[in-house]
Formats: sequence, structure tokens, C-alpha cells
Amino acid sequence: MTAAREAKKERAELRNNIKKIEPFFAVMGKPGNSDWLASHNEPGQTFAEYLEADPVKPTAERNKIYVLPLGTFNAKQQKMIAVTAGYLAAFYDMSVQELPQRPLTATWPNVRQNKFAKSRQVKTGHILNDILKPILPADAAALIAFTSDDLYPDESMNYVFGQASLENRVGVWSLSRLDDNTDEQNFLLRTLKIAAHETGHMFSMRHCTKYECLMSGTNHLAETDRRPVDACPECTAKICWLTDTDQKSRYERLATFMKQNNFPKEAASFLKKADAVK
Ligand SMILES: [Zn+2]
Ligand SMILES: [Zn+2]
Repeated sequence: MTAAREAKKERAELRNNIKKIEPFFAVMGKPGNSDWLASHNEPGQTFAEYLEADPVKPTAERNKIYVLPLGTFNAKQQKMIAVTAGYLAAFYDMSVQELPQRPLTATWPNVRQNKFAKSRQVKTGHILNDILKPILPADAAALIAFTSDDLYPDESMNYVFGQASLENRVGVWSLSRLDDNTDEQNFLLRTLKIAAHETGHMFSMRHCTKYECLMSGTNHLAETDRRPVDACPECTAKICWLTDTDQKSRYERLATFMKQNNFPKEAASFLKKADAVK
């Protein structure tokens, strides 16, 4: 079979799998007043639209995800970062390398005092352009920094969980708000969701509006908590396509990860999806 015909066959398989895993996902309902879609008018992006958009894809030369701890972290946060690196490896079927920790020494005008929380915040654009871009390794498909500092994108916004640059392959997100009003397991689950979401943006994936999906936009943590730690059928087709991953073995790897990290419900769900795409 020619390479072109093989690629076509693979896409057909991915399209067939969309129907098989559809029953595991809730169709996106009407947004609540403070939910993301109440204030953001987004068209969504199907698998077909994604392919048409000529997305950023890992290549033979750029095939690694780098994770950088930026700033200071307590033991609990350090553990979160290491576990999250493992999730990204399973989720994107790519090799993930954690870089040595670096200090985050931003000064005015790249930092501010948040007027509500009275806490220090660092501007995401500064981290993306001045800190991450210059140290992007040549073989990086993506470089993702974690901070324990709170972040803001511009003066109009109160805070932001994270931000990624679709063109420059760099992204940053903060752990500082993710442990609000919750236990350690859910803190970890939120971190996994946000890390996988932001990384998806770095591979040109847009916000999902069709299902309650890991790639849907979120405005607040209750919305994050409502969302699954997995991508919907359309978004999963994108992920498998972009790394030429076998969907069934990917689900099995994700199930193993969840079992190892004490998420029996999520592990069972991934195994059911592995069965469904047989
Ligand atoms: Zn997003
Ligand atoms: Zn989706």
C-alpha cells in the first residue's frame, strides 16, 4: 500500500472509532451563567476541520515534550509535576522529559499585585516570550512550564490558569489555584486535565464545543471538575492522528496510568473505551 493510501485508511479507522466511543461522552449542554461558553462564542472543531487546518504536528526532528518546573515548589507540587509528565506521555504517546527546575525572577512590568487576592501574579506573555522561547530545545514538539505563581494574561483579566502559544510551541500553567477547596486526588486530576488541555492547544487543537470534553474551555474550577480527564471522540481522533497512535493501546496505557495513580473509576472507563474500539 502506498503511504498516501495507508494514511487514508488510518483516517477512516479513526473516523469509525468516533461513533464507537460517542456513548461515553455527554453532548455539551446549555452553558450556565458563569461557564466558558456563556461568554465565549466559539465554533468548535471537528476532526475533519482539524485536518483541514493544517495543524502543528510532531515531526521526526521535533518529537519530545519538555516539562519545566519554573519557580519554587513544595513536595506535593513537585510530585504533581512528575505524575503529570507521566500522563502527558501516555495521553500524547510521546517521550516526555522533565527539565531541571529554574527560578522565576520576574519584575515590574511583568508582575503585579492582584487587587482581589492581594497576591503576586506573573504575566503569561513574559514567561512565554522572554523565558521559554529562548530555551526551547531543538527537538521539542512542545515546552511546557509549571509555576506555583499565580498568572495573568493582561490587565483586563483577574487571572488565568495557563496559556499556550500555538505558533511557538511553548506553554505555561499555574498550580496556584488548582488546590482550592478540594482534596489531593482532585488537585491532581485538575492538574492532569489542564496540562493535557494546554498541550492540545500546542498541537493546534481548538476548544471543543460538541461534547463535555477535556478540550472544552473552562472559566472556573467547578467547570474543570465537571469535565472528563479524557478527550471526546472528535478530539481523540486528532490526538491519535497527530502521533500515529493506535487508539486501543493508547486507552490501555491510560487505564494503567489511572490504576497506578489511584483513579479506579477513570481506569475502568479507559478500559471500556479500549474494548469499544477493538
Ligand atoms: Zn484552552
Ligand atoms: Zn472534544
